Amino acid sequence: MTVTAEREAEVVAGVPAQLLVGGEWRSAERGRTLPVEDPSTGETLAEVADATVADGTAALDAAVAAQPRWAATAPRERGEILRRAYEAITARTEELALLMTLEMGKPVAESRAEITYGAEFFRWFAEEAVRVAGEWSIAPNGANRMLTMKQPVGPCLLITPWNFPLAMGTRKIGPAVAAGCTMVVKPASQTPLSMLALAEILTAAGLPDGVLNLVTTSRTGDVMEPLIRDPRLRKLSFTGSTQVGRKLIEQSAEQVLRVSMELGGNAPFLVFGDADLDAAVDGAMVAKMRNIGEACTAANRFLVHASVAEEFTGRLAERMGKLSVGRGTEEGVQVGPLIDATSRDKVAGLVQDAVDRGAEVLVGGEPVGDRGYFYAPTVLAGVPVDARIEDEEVFGPVAPVTTFGDDAEAIALANDTEYGLVTYVYTRDLSRAMRVCEELETGMVGLNQGMVSNPAAPFGGVKASGFGREGGRAGIQEYLETKYIALTI
Ligand code: NAP
Repeated sequence: MTVTAEREAEVVAGVPAQLLVGGEWRSAERGRTLPVEDPSTGETLAEVADATVADGTAALDAAVAAQPRWAATAPRERGEILRRAYEAITARTEELALLMTLEMGKPVAESRAEITYGAEFFRWFAEEAVRVAGEWSIAPNGANRMLTMKQPVGPCLLITPWNFPLAMGTRKIGPAVAAGCTMVVKPASQTPLSMLALAEILTAAGLPDGVLNLVTTSRTGDVMEPLIRDPRLRKLSFTGSTQVGRKLIEQSAEQVLRVSMELGGNAPFLVFGDADLDAAVDGAMVAKMRNIGEACTAANRFLVHASVAEEFTGRLAERMGKLSVGRGTEEGVQVGPLIDATSRDKVAGLVQDAVDRGAEVLVGGEPVGDRGYFYAPTVLAGVPVDARIEDEEVFGPVAPVTTFGDDAEAIALANDTEYGLVTYVYTRDLSRAMRVCEELETGMVGLNQGMVSNPAAPFGGVKASGFGREGGRAGIQEYLETKYIALTI
């Protein structure tokens, strides 16, 4: 059912629009605010606090003050706070999904899926909180004993992007809480509302004052840099573009800050000649169109064996052409708007460049409507490998298809990128599948499936896609230090 304007306004009005510092919701210095826009209309949805440098420092002060007590809190207690928050998010799925759709644009059904995915990180890390353990061993020469213990890293700065407004937060906050770290959270300024709602849920679930501090700001670089350079900060976890990630790694070098980087992607989607084409087209729809194509894991380059290229591309174009584009709150809509005019114009520019170099538009290929930032689901055939779209993250609903002749060429094309986050592989030949998986320069592989994200799995990339893993058993290690004690008994 299409949501009423009254219900939309009610959900937005229910979100705290201030900064959370030391357990207190407060306005930014001088009462400054920044607008949050609905990308399907371009209209302002809400105003939230616009933090200054002093507000940012106050948030870190609060995290530092809360750290010793929080580190000493029983793991079970930390886990149970996460568990209660998981249950509260789940109970409020409808309202949170609507809020997410309003600020980010994706259809409500997809927002619901993100709420479920995001909440699962809290459930997973609630369970991991009580499984942190060290080791005891005898030195190889038998002369002494070796003890290792795990301890929280300390105050963290967690910076998240706009494309998954909730899950990119829970994937960091969950393990930080479980490990006993305090934090300053900085959501993207285009989508702060979901994170503000999450902070309120965590507070209600019993998270002590100062453990999670939340800062929204439009002067992002100015407010974040002093925190990154502050020696009291012990860890930075960043999800966003490689361009910003590089800059933050440089800033972190000064104090040798521990960092985790979840950066951009340029995922190849390989379809071999022996692939199950029904499964490959289904997988392609998920890998390409989840989140309107605005995902770091989105299939960016379709590399298809020449023997099946025409059939695969034709079937993909047919499916893409049937998708219904519109405001994410409307019944039956499958594709929402892009986040802003810059993103829509970037997508249009990449399509134009490919066409100028000889690609053929099978479906789509243009913006939709004159309000909001919509772009039609697009399939491009015969895309030359020197087209910009083969190199750059398109971050939109565009599927460029290129053909290959043999396995070696497929692997060479797939690896011919600075990125290495995820690769999708469709083949029914087990030996080929395993050989290709080994040779791909990638952090993750979707083997005969179009989605890899799972809170119980280690998510992350290689090369310019970053380092560190989120989720799985590895996820909590990003927030723990290992201390080794050599002892004689
Ligand atoms: P972005 O421009 O890099 O922004 C990400 C976050 O960094 C936002 O909170 C942003 O704040 C903040 N930021 C920007 N400049 C900063 C600075 N100088 N200092 C500190 N923080 C700064 O990326 P985006 O456009 O929001 O997100 C899309 C990118 O994220 C894509 O490249 C996508 O692939 C990547 N991503 C990666 C993963 C992964 O797990 N690998 C997951 C999702 C997305 P403001 O909003 O205030 O500018």
